[in-house]
Amino acid sequence: MEEKQHFAVAIDGPSGAGKSTLARSVARELGAVYVDTGAIYRTVGYCAWKQGIDPAAEEAVCALLPHIEIAMGYDGDGLQRMYLNGEDVTKEIRLPQISMYASRVSAIPEVRAFLMDMQRDMARKGSVVMDGRDIGTVVLPQAEVKIFLTASVEDRARRRWEELRERGTPKEFDELLEEIRQRDHNDASRAAAPLRPAEDAIRLDTTGNTFEQSRRQILEIIKERLGQ
Ligand code: C5P
Repeated sequence: MEEKQHFAVAIDGPSGAGKSTLARSVARELGAVYVDTGAIYRTVGYCAWKQGIDPAAEEAVCALLPHIEIAMGYDGDGLQRMYLNGEDVTKEIRLPQISMYASRVSAIPEVRAFLMDMQRDMARKGSVVMDGRDIGTVVLPQAEVKIFLTASVEDRARRRWEELRERGTPKEFDELLEEIRQRDHNDASRAAAPLRPAEDAIRLDTTGNTFEQSRRQILEIIKERLGQ
């Protein structure tokens, strides 16, 4: 029997560009598994936060790694769930303070290496739409489709503001704007796998777009690249 062909779509970009909602929706349409790699870094960040560890203290964070077991699963609606040492932490990793913890721990090369296999394994098992910061450049450099999604910092802060308000954990707009600027800076300036578009990535600026417009544009890019 002919082996089934898997494909991988890498969607990278800064915080709040709409990657996760778009990637999830597109994955469903294509019959692929959606992998939110930010959630994996958030799980490590949450672990540091819970244990009162400074996320920028490399040695202390690295000392945690041998005691961490991270697992991923999917619920009936295809939503990704995260487990930390067997405990479901899907909700906790979305606490507003965990964003900065995730951003800090993700700058540590040992943390990135620790999480690499888990991400690549997902793409080995089947077709994926994976979002993150370094999927097209480092995790899946052979991905058939690479998209770099951006939007203005104000647009991204507004989306994040709406998302947090809907979740019942609102934050001031100005505070979010500053946090996104700070995370952009951390993600783009770190030495380990900095945020940058892969050379063969297609850049898509979603500023001012509706969700549906961005979704259609992404699907068109993917279908064209996959020759469908
Ligand atoms: O995507 P999300 O905002 O949930 O990611 C949380 C943090 O994890 C980001 O600010 C980024 O620093 C880090 N991250 C990363 N590499 C990825 C995904 C996320 O460094 N592939």
